[in-house]
Amino acid sequence: MEAGTGTGKTITSLCGTLPCAMESGCKVVYLTRTKSQQKQIVRECAAIKADVLCVAIQGRSSVSCPLMRDDPELSSGTPEEISKLCSEYKKRDSNGCRHCSFFDNVETADLDRWESVIRTEHLGPEEFADRCEAEGVCPYELQKLLLPKADVICAPYPFVFIPQILDHFVQWTGTPLSRTVLVVDEAHNLPDYLRDVQTAELGMRSLARADKEAREYGDPDMHEDIKLTDVIAVVEEIIRYAGKEYLMDDDGLLPPYFLEDELMTRLGVSSIAIRRICKAMEDFGSMVEEKRKARRKLPRTYVGHLAAFLNFWSMADELTYVQLIVGEEGNHKLQTYCMDPSGAAGPLRDCRSAVLMSGTLAPLDEYARELGVEDPAKLMMTSQFPVGNLLKLYCDKVTMKYDERFLEENYRMLMDGVVGTVNAVRVNTAVFFPSYQMMDRMIADGLEERLSREIFYERRGMQQAELMDAFERFRMSEGGVLFCVTGGRISEGLDFPDKTLELAVLIGIPFPKPTAKARAMQRYYDHMTGDGTLYTVYIPASRKMRQAMGRLIRSETDRGVAAIFDKRVHVLPDVDAEACDDIPAAVRAFFSGRIGMFRATTWARGTCLS
Ligand code: SF4
Repeated sequence: MEAGTGTGKTITSLCGTLPCAMESGCKVVYLTRTKSQQKQIVRECAAIKADVLCVAIQGRSSVSCPLMRDDPELSSGTPEEISKLCSEYKKRDSNGCRHCSFFDNVETADLDRWESVIRTEHLGPEEFADRCEAEGVCPYELQKLLLPKADVICAPYPFVFIPQILDHFVQWTGTPLSRTVLVVDEAHNLPDYLRDVQTAELGMRSLARADKEAREYGDPDMHEDIKLTDVIAVVEEIIRYAGKEYLMDDDGLLPPYFLEDELMTRLGVSSIAIRRICKAMEDFGSMVEEKRKARRKLPRTYVGHLAAFLNFWSMADELTYVQLIVGEEGNHKLQTYCMDPSGAAGPLRDCRSAVLMSGTLAPLDEYARELGVEDPAKLMMTSQFPVGNLLKLYCDKVTMKYDERFLEENYRMLMDGVVGTVNAVRVNTAVFFPSYQMMDRMIADGLEERLSREIFYERRGMQQAELMDAFERFRMSEGGVLFCVTGGRISEGLDFPDKTLELAVLIGIPFPKPTAKARAMQRYYDHMTGDGTLYTVYIPASRKMRQAMGRLIRSETDRGVAAIFDKRVHVLPDVDAEACDDIPAAVRAFFSGRIGMFRATTWARGTCLS
């Protein structure tokens, strides 16, 4: 289902699924990306029916563990490491005592009372965690015990889409997937998320740590007289060689069996010996984990990671995976990238039913095909807000094509167009650049000076707190200008209600860079669908553009203008902007309520809007 923000997707999907699920003994599992979405679901469940039991569970992290949270080393643990250490903390020692008293208290907790607290007080995930901590109980373990009683479970994506976590989740809920109704929010993210969970990487930094670990734990022989550090050194050599021979700009495609062949040649062993070496490294990794756990340290093993990566690499099937060298100088990485998300979308096919929804899901047939979902019921909701509240324009004189964007006349028109549009009206304005490099280049060429307004920035690698600070200051400003990147954190995840954003200037179309990975994806979808360009270039770019433009209208009273500087916009599906010769004049006319007259007169003269 595609339906814009403010349509009521959350409440509608809950109202639609919850009664049927409750009647037929099924559970609704509502999957979200953020904590604030979880809070909203808890609130909306309460609005539907006062005693709906909605349990919002968070993924494993040190934040959800009161015992590890304040330890600087432990708080850097991955969900898997934290989970393993938690198991250790829960074990009884020879005196029958546990390291974790929060878990002891879960065993004696009055579950009926906690159930009633959630039913009546509708606590969001953070409030629930605070309440548990105040009573000395582990929030994560308590939530697990409450899952079988829940009508609605609100969880992050990994609970369902990472097979090892799904197995546990099904056990905890006591409900098989065949009796689970899934609701997936912000589902436009799902295909890329599923590609990422099926992808593995190995970098030079990780190998340096593996080498240190090997030396610390005795550097044993892995095969005949080959030591563990010898294997690690050879993998380092191979990555360096791949970087030199195959890396062009962002990445490079590696030949079939590259890693296997290089390992055999450089170590002088057979493929069977390589498998034995991997097994020996796995055992070494398990030994390190156990020793670290016993010292109450994170059970982290870089050698184990290396073994897991080599196994994963050799198992990746040639059709759906592409094997690459990626990364910057100094930290090159081998990457085995999964091009097809449908393999990890199994839960969508195995569940009782699933609702996938977003404000930018179209084209729906292609979306379903990408996920391997056959013959779904589809719903496209047109905006319920007045159409005239959003004006979408594009400049058909400028191109952001890679080899033409900096041609003198084109670049001058782009710069003048952006400056003229931003300066046309003093409203809160976001300028979406196609990349940080483009932002830097236009700033270096004097863009900031020509805008004479307060400017806020989304910068490369910005910490979340810093980004939120810039975002809040922009929202509080009157007539501020925000420089950000299409497809970045601002263009996809943040809300700008009312007058906090009224003008969006989009520079270029966020087509993917023609990297080796992008070309491999295009070939794969050509093979699978007959139109790789549509699936891997036009549709992703269109969704990113629509996400960015979607920041403008969040309610029936919001209004705004999206001005796109790139004539190629007409090739994008579902981006219906009008070509305009004088965007600054159209922007002024829109905000002074004269757009109808402006359109009529300029159209009549055939000079502006076409
Ligand atoms: Fe942390 Fe809870 Fe595990 Fe104890 S039981 S270690 S508090 S996650």
